[in-house]
Amino acid sequence: MQENIIITGKHVSAQVPTSWQQQLSQAIRDPVTLCKRLGLSSQWLPGAHAGHRLFDICVPDAYLARIVPNDPQDPLLLQVLPTGDETQTSPGYVTDPLEEADHRPAKGLIHKYANRVLLIASPACAINCRYCFRRHFPYSDNSPSRSQWQEALDYLRNDTTIHEAILSGGDPLAASDRQLAWLVDQLESIPTSNGYAFILAYPW
Ligand code: SF4
Repeated sequence: MQENIIITGKHVSAQVPTSWQQQLSQAIRDPVTLCKRLGLSSQWLPGAHAGHRLFDICVPDAYLARIVPNDPQDPLLLQVLPTGDETQTSPGYVTDPLEEADHRPAKGLIHKYANRVLLIASPACAINCRYCFRRHFPYSDNSPSRSQWQEALDYLRNDTTIHEAILSGGDPLAASDRQLAWLVDQLESIPTSNGYAFILAYPW
């Protein structure tokens, strides 16, 4: 049976599901709803629409409940509210600040440094932060199915110098337990001289 918790605040529905998966599936994903729920004036909408077109809004109720309504300067709001500034270009600013585009030998795999790789275990996060340095990352091309993971796993089998696998994303914990366990099992089955070290990490 689905349990609910009560979160107070006029801008949040009385009951929020305790399952994080359900909270995420019901997250606010459009500027109109976000501004309306927080009592923000329509002056914020054009910028919010413009930024949202570049990088989707994602704000679950549990996060929304912690934002002060009708306060455009609330720091938690600034983390998730798109603005028109996001459409501006600046000299020296690039869409791939980590220079990962040239280091993706297989779907879902980034190999930039010696001895270690990063796996895109999940493309999702609990919120979408406006400052995310992977906001332009092509997640749709790097969310492998189990059969598609084989290419990345073969790559690891063929490079015995690699002994550290960082599970990242997105938020690796947004993947299901079953998927994470499967991925770790696959990595553990790869023979290496030193064995693998596994790290769960956000991409910062
Ligand atoms: S990867 Fe990190 S910074 Fe980017 S949206 Fe997810 S939580 Fe925010």
